[in-house]
Amino acid sequence: MNGALTIAGLGPGSEAMVTPEVQAALDAASDVIGYIPYVARVPDRAGLTKHASDNRVEIDRSNHALTLAAEGKQVVVVSSGDPGVFAMASAVFEALEAGPQAWRDIQITVLPGITAMLAAAAAAGAPLGHDFCAINLSDNLKPWALIEKRLRLAVEADFAIALYNPRSKTRPEGFERTLDLLRQQCAPTRLITFARAVSTPDQTLNTVPLRDATPEMADMRTVVLIGSSATRAIPRKGKPPIIYTPRSVPS
Ligand code: SAH
Repeated sequence: MNGALTIAGLGPGSEAMVTPEVQAALDAASDVIGYIPYVARVPDRAGLTKHASDNRVEIDRSNHALTLAAEGKQVVVVSSGDPGVFAMASAVFEALEAGPQAWRDIQITVLPGITAMLAAAAAAGAPLGHDFCAINLSDNLKPWALIEKRLRLAVEADFAIALYNPRSKTRPEGFERTLDLLRQQCAPTRLITFARAVSTPDQTLNTVPLRDATPEMADMRTVVLIGSSATRAIPRKGKPPIIYTPRSVPS
C-alpha cells in the first residue's frame, strides 16, 4: 500500500467540532503524530500507533511523519483547531522543502479544522463579523519588535484582532505590553473578550472594556478577541451579553 500523509485539525476541543473527514482520516490511520495533549484526544485502537512529542520539536516531528509516510504508512499529523493556523501544516511543508526529493511524491492532504478564534467568536456572538486579523503573541518564532509593529498597525487600521498564545508562564510580559499598547491607541471602552477552553467543559467567556482588562485574564488556553472601534455589546437580563461587530462601516 502506498503511504500517505494527512495533516488534520482536531478543532478547539469538542468532539462535535471534529469534522467528518478528519474523523475518517483518523479511522484509517496507521500512525498518529503530534503534540502530547492533541494525540491524547485520539482514542487507542488496534492497528494504530500513536507518537506523541513535546511542543518545540515541530520540524523533528514533521521529518518523522514524512519518513513514516515514505515507508508506506497512513500517517495523520494532528493539530488543535486548524492545522494551518499557527500549527503543524507549515512545519511539515518546511520539512518537505528541505528534505529528500522523493518526499515530494508522497500524497499529502491538509484537512481544515475549526480554529480557536472562530469557535470563540461564535460563542461570544460575532465580534469578527467585519474585517479582522490574527496575531500569534508568542515570540518563540519571531522577534517581539515585529509582533509589536503588527499590533500597532492592526489597531491603527481598526481591525478586530484575535490573539493566539497570549500569555504563558515563560512569557508573562508580552500580553502586559500588549495591553499597554492598546491603552495608548484605543478608548478605555474598547471591548476585549477573553475566551478560554472554548467548546470544552472548562469554557469561560469574559468580555470587559479595555480599562478593566488585566494580564491575568489570559493564559495559554485563552484566545483574546480585541474588538474594533465599532464592536459593541447587547446586554441581556440574566444572560451574557452578545458581542458583535456590525457588517458595515459608514462612508
Ligand atoms: N491551530 C490552533 C492554534 C494553535 S496555537 C487553532 O487553529 O486553534 C495555541 C493557541 O490557540 C492557544 O494558546 C490559544 O490561544 C488558542 N486556543 C486553542 N484552543 C483553544 C480553545 N479551545 N479555546 C481558546 N483558545 C484556544
